[in-house]
Amino acid sequence: MRVYADNAATTYLSKTAMDVMVECLEKFNGNPNSLHTDGQLTQEKLDESREIIADCINAKNPNEIYFTSGGSEADNQALLSAARGLKGKGKKHLITLNIEHHAILHTMRKLEGEGFEVTYLVPQANGIVSVEDVKNAIREDTALVSIMFANNEMGAIQPIAEIGAICKEKGVLFHTDAVQAAAHVPIDVQAMNIDMLSMSGHKFHGPKGVGVFYARNGIRLVNVIEGGAQERGKRAGTINVPAIAAMAAALKEGCDNMDKNMAHVSAMRDRLIEKLSDIPYSQLNGDPVKRLPGNVNYSFEGVEGESLLLALDNYGICCSSGSACTSESLDPSHVLTGIGVPIEAAHGSLRFSLGEDITEEEVDYIAEKVHKVVQLYRNMSPYWEDLETGKRQHCIAE
Ligand SMILES: *Cc1c(COP(=O)(O)O)cnc(C)c1O
Repeated sequence: MRVYADNAATTYLSKTAMDVMVECLEKFNGNPNSLHTDGQLTQEKLDESREIIADCINAKNPNEIYFTSGGSEADNQALLSAARGLKGKGKKHLITLNIEHHAILHTMRKLEGEGFEVTYLVPQANGIVSVEDVKNAIREDTALVSIMFANNEMGAIQPIAEIGAICKEKGVLFHTDAVQAAAHVPIDVQAMNIDMLSMSGHKFHGPKGVGVFYARNGIRLVNVIEGGAQERGKRAGTINVPAIAAMAAALKEGCDNMDKNMAHVSAMRDRLIEKLSDIPYSQLNGDPVKRLPGNVNYSFEGVEGESLLLALDNYGICCSSGSACTSESLDPSHVLTGIGVPIEAAHGSLRFSLGEDITEEEVDYIAEKVHKVVQLYRNMSPYWEDLETGKRQHCIAE
């Protein structure tokens, strides 16, 4: 059996998105900026995509949608726009979370180097920031609050509407990285008072390398990519219409089927959580209820997440671990340690991110194999032996 449970890393292109993409590659090859018929036909496809996307997040006007190369670029543009655009007005303070994606954290670091001051709020143990903390962090010179809609590692969903209301009341710009949320949970930029928002096609069954930067009209934007006058002068470069149209189709598909998908995927998530909960000295990370429908992040004491991941891969299960050895460093996830998960527990964590087509059989298969590999690696682990013999203290309750 093969089970793809790494949808938070990337999703597979949906059939709908692929069909749209192929159709566009065949039929719409003009440059949307050209005045001839070929160009104008492509421009129409682009306008249609912008409308579909605006509609999915309830943006007031399709011209508030800008196309980018992905979520990272949208995050960069949001932060740079707010910071540099408001610096002249004496606003040099920014607020974010310590558990944001690196596209936010690294951009914040860059802005610190330019003289901005950044407050990194620490969420509660369940991964959710206290609205009071956000309110108290806002100062006279705060330019922007950037708080992710949902966390990519442990799935916690932030109180976005409440934070939006506070920012509106205090006259502070509010950006949210909604890359994990878009097409998975409801988003309404007007009702939630979201000024800027980031999305990425490949996190909801669209293509990779394409994303959306939503910015409410009236916000001064700074370019990340300079050049031609595409995207109303705010993002240069010839537009990739097939990828954009496919992304719009994928987003629409996700939004049209949202209720059904949320009910099914969260039931499968809870089934997996339930089945993992009888592994001793293990814990669920992130809020059990206010979390993404497909996210299961679990820590198992005394084992390495990486080893478990590779063992599960041998059983055809694709998931991800909370220790980032393969990617950047040997440090455990900044997200898990950022919400107070002990380092030992963070090292032994796995993230399963379930897709819409996940079945009960697949969930049961994952659970069975996780039980097996955790047992296997614990039996081989000197660290686990120390825990068993009392030489070391457990950090997770039995
Ligand atoms: C994947 C992801 C990004 C980056 O999006 P790309 O399109 O891959 O650049 C940003 N933020 C979050 C929360 C993500 O999960």
